[in-house]
Amino acid sequence: MEPETLTQAGTDENAAGEPETLKNYIGGEWVASAATETLDDVDPATGAVLARVPLSTEADVDAAARAARAAQPAWAATAVAKRARAVFALREALSSHQDELTRLVTEDMGKALDDARGEVGRGIESTENACGIPNLLKGETLEGVASGVDVEMWRQPVGVVAAITPFNFPAMIPLWFLPYAIACGNTFILKPSERDPRTPQRIVELIDGIGEIPAGVVNIVHGAHDAVNGLLDHPEIDAISFVGQASTALHVMDRGTRSGKRVQALGGAKNSMVVMDDADLDLAVPAMMQSAFGNAGQRCLAGSVAVVVGDEERRREVRSALAEAASTLPTGNGAEEGVVCPPMVAADARDRVAAAAERAIEQGSEVVVDGRDRTNAAGALMGPTILTVSDPESELAREELFGPLLALLEVEDLDEALEFVNSSRYGNAAVIFTSSGEAVRRYRNEVEAGMVGVNVGVPAPVAWFPFAGWKDSMVGDLHANGHDAVEFYTRKKVVTTRWQPAKKGAAFGTH
Ligand code: NAD
Repeated sequence: MEPETLTQAGTDENAAGEPETLKNYIGGEWVASAATETLDDVDPATGAVLARVPLSTEADVDAAARAARAAQPAWAATAVAKRARAVFALREALSSHQDELTRLVTEDMGKALDDARGEVGRGIESTENACGIPNLLKGETLEGVASGVDVEMWRQPVGVVAAITPFNFPAMIPLWFLPYAIACGNTFILKPSERDPRTPQRIVELIDGIGEIPAGVVNIVHGAHDAVNGLLDHPEIDAISFVGQASTALHVMDRGTRSGKRVQALGGAKNSMVVMDDADLDLAVPAMMQSAFGNAGQRCLAGSVAVVVGDEERRREVRSALAEAASTLPTGNGAEEGVVCPPMVAADARDRVAAAAERAIEQGSEVVVDGRDRTNAAGALMGPTILTVSDPESELAREELFGPLLALLEVEDLDEALEFVNSSRYGNAAVIFTSSGEAVRRYRNEVEAGMVGVNVGVPAPVAWFPFAGWKDSMVGDLHANGHDAVEFYTRKKVVTTRWQPAKKGAAFGTH
């Protein structure tokens, strides 16, 4: 595959001049879905329709599941070092196409180029970590649990695994799962978000060109709810990795486990950023801008509530620093260098967030910065908006609104801040800005969240560590990435062996 080409093999070539319909990749072949309906994948910066996404049916899912099942025994029997080399070949392909993948992310969902490059880079890091699979897979042994008896624990693949992924990280999130799953000896089906599937499609095209990854090991099925439910119900699928909204995560866990699958389901978030009265605002405010408004607030780690600790004077100081920074934040087409706040994924998403802002104002929130009148031709852009919290239990303060809308809550002290943060139903990320070691120590110990940032606005996933939230931000137990990924994608087997005494006369001595 040429690094610079944007023409996709996994598309319908007949539709000259028309947006192409994506194909599924099943058993090593690009195949048209049986779907009669499609959705448009729209560039939120221009409104252009980039591709049509087939709403794959249960029959498509069934074909993918059978192909993955057929390929699994031989793949599991492939030497672990060879599987590691296959993942390394994927790492090389991703790395040499990083710019192209970055552009696809920006076109498909609006994300600013720098952010998109970072997301692809994080996906590559997960792939790199999975290259170490021979070390990660090693089991445990205990000699002499009884006389002449030793015990070993092996990790074996779960079988066929599927990943169902959200729109906001179309490169990174599929790569949280795919490399680890196949490195462990599983075969894999990806159902990417129907809103921006061209980046994962391109990743699978790259896989198609990698000889070390045999047909059927990786498959992609496009679509929405029917495809997801088909995967959740399918008897040939053994495990599901999911990322998306909290309500979808519950549905996936419920339906997937009912058919006996292992499920990890990472859900939504409402993350607070506590700004202590000793925080250096020159460091904190830019970090808060990136957190609240980067990717138009469409990150599960976005800081969407600023919890400002301090007296009247400090509150005024923080409020005006946030207002100044938000109203001058580079906002617009994500393809333009330097933009921090790009369009949202689509006009309907923008309208939903603007309506939530309006409701908050009607309920008593004060406007600190209003970005609602800033939009683009596609109707998907909304400028950074900051509103004060009039009621700590309001929709603005408690619900995931997933847009460039920052709620501002002012409190007396760290006790009050922690009480607010920990009363959330979510526990994905929690951030504190301070120069006090004592405040940091208390916050990181007491805060109820899976990912904690200390003077860091976005405590982003790091490939070598587990990534997920607590409470309603995650259902299941094993997180994504790091050693948790290996735990999730393997089953443990414990073998107890009694070593028979040597037959009389065998030349082993008497010991
Ligand atoms: P979503 O839940 O709408 O969609 C996620 C996937 O589930 C998609 O592939 C979609 O096709 C499918 N889906 C959606 N509704 C379904 C239904 N009713 N039945 C069957 N399948 C369904 O999520 P989204 O809007 O694409 O992504 C944004 C959400 O993801 C936010 O809530 C965000 O916080 C969350 N997220 C969480 C993390 C995390 O690590 N916890 C990371 C990224 C995004």
